[in-house]
Amino acid sequence: MFVFKFGGASVKNATSVKNLAEILQKFSDNIVVVISAMGKSTNALEQIVEYYSSGNKVELDIAFENFKAFHYYIMKDLFESTEHQSYQKVKAVFDTMSEKISDKPTLNYDFDYDQIVSNGELLSTLIVSEYLKAVNINARWKDIRESVKTDNKYREAKVEWDISESLMKNNFTFEDGNILVTQGFLGSTINNLTTTLGREGSDYSAAIIAYLLEAEKVIIWKDVPGVLNADPKWFDDTILLEKISYKDAIELAFYGTSVIHPKTIQPLKRKSIPLHVKSFIEPDLKGTLVTHHDYDKLIPSFIFKMDQVLISISARDLSFIAEDYLEIILGAFARNGLNINLMQNSATSFQICVNNDRNRIGRIVNDLEKQFHIEWENELELVTIRYFDQQTIDRVTINKEVILEQHNKTTAQMVIRDVSEKE
Ligand code: ASP
Ligand code: MG
Repeated sequence: MFVFKFGGASVKNATSVKNLAEILQKFSDNIVVVISAMGKSTNALEQIVEYYSSGNKVELDIAFENFKAFHYYIMKDLFESTEHQSYQKVKAVFDTMSEKISDKPTLNYDFDYDQIVSNGELLSTLIVSEYLKAVNINARWKDIRESVKTDNKYREAKVEWDISESLMKNNFTFEDGNILVTQGFLGSTINNLTTTLGREGSDYSAAIIAYLLEAEKVIIWKDVPGVLNADPKWFDDTILLEKISYKDAIELAFYGTSVIHPKTIQPLKRKSIPLHVKSFIEPDLKGTLVTHHDYDKLIPSFIFKMDQVLISISARDLSFIAEDYLEIILGAFARNGLNINLMQNSATSFQICVNNDRNRIGRIVNDLEKQFHIEWENELELVTIRYFDQQTIDRVTINKEVILEQHNKTTAQMVIRDVSEKE
């Protein structure tokens, strides 16, 4: 049994849905197909949530109409007539959604968010499974919310593994179809209230399902040929990493390689389930294989994060930054939900590199200002090189001022400033 995951880009229009069907036609295996919301519709849904919770009725109605039109436009090209049964099913989702957004918001923004944003995946999976059936693929639609149970931390729900395992094994059987089409990103509480697992969470869903069903392998179908050693946005001579270890995949995802969601690898590693990252544009290419194996040919990988801020924190009483102070400082970052990309401490100051999230940074400064003196520098870049050597460091620091540098055995990280224009 395989688990396939198709992201938003692979179902962004009718042509891509047809392409997905062509890929499935090459396989006769039992497959769970995990699908994200179509194209950028999760962003559109987030906008709808904004209008809904701020009471902007006019914009809300326009955004909802556009959202519906986007899906109907795709369906027009997939089904022969509006009499096709898919229209009824899709309309039922829109009706429920319409009811929800006509109601007053609850006091729980994250709860409302999950009830609204989850519709993206419900729609995409309905449309795709109906299309697959229409082209004679033996597909069934499955509601993942009946099988993946979570806590009630809306927008970032945690999986309840034990309950989910038995539900999943009971519900995801292949008796009446070899293709089970289901939603990424979603789960539900024990009381059957819809939850989401965090943005871009569909890769993780594929890993959860593979883990619970002990799949033979997972394939994530992407619009890139596999995992590259750098983002082609910054490098023109990127190299495809044909085989990488789970450990490398975790590290690359952790430092910010955007191809695989960071939470995806751990469950697969636990059960030794291989992960393939392949191109849905050129499905016959080999792609990247992630397994236990460690490979001796270690290709350096580069991860760039732009628009970074380096915050330097020192105690107002000029004392050392010791454990008690660190607890306060890190507590403020955790409470305000700002991820730390890199940190370093010296005797009298503690430096933290973060994404330029003004809102959260403002709140943290506010929390810490009384006790600490805080300075920050903007417009920085953070470069991470896994399997670095001097040559690779030289390559990324041409015309850059290195502001902070940290090395361990395998990985070098540098906070740098671009000084090229000033010369
Ligand atoms: N549709 C969700 C998102 O865009 C989940 C995913 O794409 O993985 O965040
Ligand atoms: Mg998406």
